[in-house]
Amino acid sequence: MDARFAPLFEPLRVGPVTAPNRFYQVPHCSGMGYALPQTLAAMRAVKAEGGWGVVCTEYCSIHPSSDDHPYPFASNWDDGDLANLAAIADAVHRHGALAGIELWHGGSYVANLGTRLPTLGVRSMPAHSDPSQSQRMDRADIRRLKRWHRAAALRARAAGFDIVYVYPSHGYLLSEFLSRALNDRGDEYGGTLENRARLFRELLEDTRDAVGDRCAVATRFAVNGHGAEHLDATEARDLLGALGPIPDLWDLVIDDYEEEMGSSRFVKEAALEARVRGARALTGRPVVSVGRFTSPETMLRQVRSGVVDLIGAARPSIADPYLPAKVREGRIEDIRECIGCNVCYAHNSRGAPIRCTQNPTIGEEWRRGWHPERVPDGRGRVLIVGAGPAGLEAAQVLGKRGFDVALADGERAAGGRVSRESRLPGLAEWARVRDYRTGQIARMANVALYLGNRLEAAEVRDYGADHVLIATGARWRRDGLGRSHPVPIAPLRGQVYTPDDVMDGVSPPGSVVVYDDDHYYLGPVIALALARAGAQVRYVTSAGRAGEWSEYTAEQARTQRALCEAGVEITVNESVAGFDGGVVTTACVFSGRERVIPADSLVLVTSREPQDALSEALVGPEGEEEGATVIRIGDCRQPSIIAAAVYSGHKAARELGTGEGAAPGRDRVVIGAPARR
Ligand code: ADP
Ligand code: SF4
Repeated sequence: MDARFAPLFEPLRVGPVTAPNRFYQVPHCSGMGYALPQTLAAMRAVKAEGGWGVVCTEYCSIHPSSDDHPYPFASNWDDGDLANLAAIADAVHRHGALAGIELWHGGSYVANLGTRLPTLGVRSMPAHSDPSQSQRMDRADIRRLKRWHRAAALRARAAGFDIVYVYPSHGYLLSEFLSRALNDRGDEYGGTLENRARLFRELLEDTRDAVGDRCAVATRFAVNGHGAEHLDATEARDLLGALGPIPDLWDLVIDDYEEEMGSSRFVKEAALEARVRGARALTGRPVVSVGRFTSPETMLRQVRSGVVDLIGAARPSIADPYLPAKVREGRIEDIRECIGCNVCYAHNSRGAPIRCTQNPTIGEEWRRGWHPERVPDGRGRVLIVGAGPAGLEAAQVLGKRGFDVALADGERAAGGRVSRESRLPGLAEWARVRDYRTGQIARMANVALYLGNRLEAAEVRDYGADHVLIATGARWRRDGLGRSHPVPIAPLRGQVYTPDDVMDGVSPPGSVVVYDDDHYYLGPVIALALARAGAQVRYVTSAGRAGEWSEYTAEQARTQRALCEAGVEITVNESVAGFDGGVVTTACVFSGRERVIPADSLVLVTSREPQDALSEALVGPEGEEEGATVIRIGDCRQPSIIAAAVYSGHKAARELGTGEGAAPGRDRVVIGAPARR
């Protein structure tokens, strides 16, 4: 045990249960929920194994009238859910951690697309993303809701959970009741703060009454909402004081995902600290809160200074399920720090199972049997060409497996795209993808990194490795081919640039149009970089909003705001039809109507060209056979997000020489309840 961090390993009594330490995995979505019960249980189990003292479920629906289809939420509707829930609690208990469950009713937010039941609200309100409104709850509905919540709490206890949540935040049913703007009721559940909080208080008391003998009652409460529909900070503090001792634990958040779990482009570590400070004194109960904590020093300061009792984490526990164990053992340099890209959240938003840029094993614990810290032994000589995310990940995995690894890159610095991109505005933390891996490799005698070594096919052959991994990446196209352009843009004349040029330090002269047909972060970030360097910039996108896919990473609004604030003109729903060197012609994506924008330079953020010449030279046009000695990984095989390149490098390296990987026999969804143990 590293004595410096001993306070983080002190047990803490929470109502009738005791957390073994201060590392608390708060509820976080997984994209698995009811749909992938064994995958989910195994993912939560690894967190407990890695030292998280409390491990919680994602939002867990208490009744079919709270159905977030098509997103795979957890469910606790009836006894049929018991086995799946028990599998999670049991898996967590096996490693000595407490299991928490976040009981949830979505209220007007959901649309019940699966169950087709009427949705319920404090009043009739539009669903979050469907053309449907909720039914206003009458007193009988409120009585029923209370019965459902109590029954769900009892099932949670029967399934073995230690901490049971009441969830009045993030815009769901109970926060509708709390809201001064949304709650227009004339009965005892509307009007004064006391009345608006009545249902919340009743559920806290009911839950305590139902399961409080054995389970701690926790609540996920927003200390500072944004906008009229949420509690303001004063009301929140009043409630913390008024309801303080009823729950055993306050899990403090804010009612704005873009900030609470903001990407590192916009929100840094410990961002909620100022708003959470003082809550502990008001409630007299233990407090947990999040802040994308990856630095043990920051965690220690949070606990020592009494801001919180428990370090809450979702993303840091995803990026490194073994973070607590590494802190305990003083292996700080081995922590795989979250980079704050929100790719984890994005895939839940897409209805897909979780993934992580830093931790390629998350979600694969059950399906593929991958462990974040353990790899199978292996032997042989491997040459990896390209030290971007894919090559670096492959090198560190193969090194840990025991292979002799040579990793070569033509550049003088490792990291490939992450090194280049991390120099752009807001992306500095992305360098952690490189730094974690180069840090690991540097301590392995069996891995040699050769920078400034651009290899040709003959050199690769001459090296005589048993296996060659080609990780030569991808480059942005200069011809405009992309989502909106199946053929190159024509004409394209004059000063035409790519993001690679800008990242190489080229400054496009004069007024610049940045054309974004990619729709993720890079177009807006390039526009921002050029504007901050003093250029007059217009951002044109074929999508409806700037960086539209960033909606899934909870950063679209801030992306667009940042462009506005930097003075970037924004044109949406237009694709670039041509550039003659002085005028960009755009076409409306709906009508085709053309218009012209005078510009001196054009930067094309459209699509990428895999750099696969080396692998073609080595393998030939037939491509790779199963079990081949030359394997393409990462962007040179399939340009995608960084998480995909890391995953690809990890998979190839983990499976090399094991005979696994060809047949996806274990990649299946198991329908039905798994056996208990
Ligand atoms: P990925 O995301 O798949 O890891 P990147 O584009 O980030 O891909 O990184 C690819 C890396 O490969 C770059 O650093 C590039 O310099 C390197 N590279 C490309 N071709 C060669 C080559 N022939 N020899 C050595 N390194 C190469
Ligand atoms: Fe952090 Fe990105 Fe991993 Fe999410 S996907 S845990 S934000 S590194």
